[in-house]
Amino acid sequence: MQTGRRPIIAGNWKMYTTPPEGRALAQAIRARAEPLAQVDLVLCPPFTSLAVVAECLQGSPIGLGAQNMHWELEGALTGEVSAKMLLTVGCHYVILGHSERRTCFGETDAMVHQKVLTALAVGLTPIVCVGETLVQREAGQTEAVVYTQVRSAFADIPSADLGRVILAYEPVWAIGTGRVATPVQANDVHRRIRALLAELADDTTAARVRIQYGGSVKPENAAALLAEPDIDGALVGGASLKVETFLEIVRAAVS
Ligand code: PEP
Repeated sequence: MQTGRRPIIAGNWKMYTTPPEGRALAQAIRARAEPLAQVDLVLCPPFTSLAVVAECLQGSPIGLGAQNMHWELEGALTGEVSAKMLLTVGCHYVILGHSERRTCFGETDAMVHQKVLTALAVGLTPIVCVGETLVQREAGQTEAVVYTQVRSAFADIPSADLGRVILAYEPVWAIGTGRVATPVQANDVHRRIRALLAELADDTTAARVRIQYGGSVKPENAAALLAEPDIDGALVGGASLKVETFLEIVRAAVS
């Protein structure tokens, strides 16, 4: 992390936690999180737990995020959830283009782009996920894949709006696998993403955008990852479902 960019740790609860479980988890995190003067903390429960978690977080600096949304503001789109609905329930953030959405549900770069435009238009902060598969990494395509995803997600977005986004570099081979990118591997991609942002916008904007790392972040590896100059936080899956492990990662971001 570099001074000037406030670290941001987000917990992606994926399709875990019923509303009562979500309430208990959010309450415990709120009760045990130390003062958050130096770090932004965000919880991203499933849709059905958003309202109950919002209630638990009222008056606290912990932010609420959703894991996905549709790009239309409303419509005959059975099973979908809109940005307006997320705002109404108290979300400030939304994860977009997570690799599980891309892989399991066929989300394309074009769809992610539409979602980013909508999120920015309504005032939600998008956490945009990018990352390569193992085959792509081994074929030396990491930069090309990630650049395509970033260019597409932020096509035609003015610098002022680009400065508001959060990126999450999540190598697909590290998500939920226990296999983590080394701090040097991760920082190398973060640095290149920042260089691309400078090209798409300008140096000031690129220096402002926070880029999280995601992929098997745990208390044991968090400090080393977060010590890298271009890693500004973490998007945490599995380890965010346990209060103590999640809070240890948060502590690693402030130490
Ligand atoms: C994620 O869901 O974005 C993630 C990185 O999961 P995990 O931490 O479990 O690898």
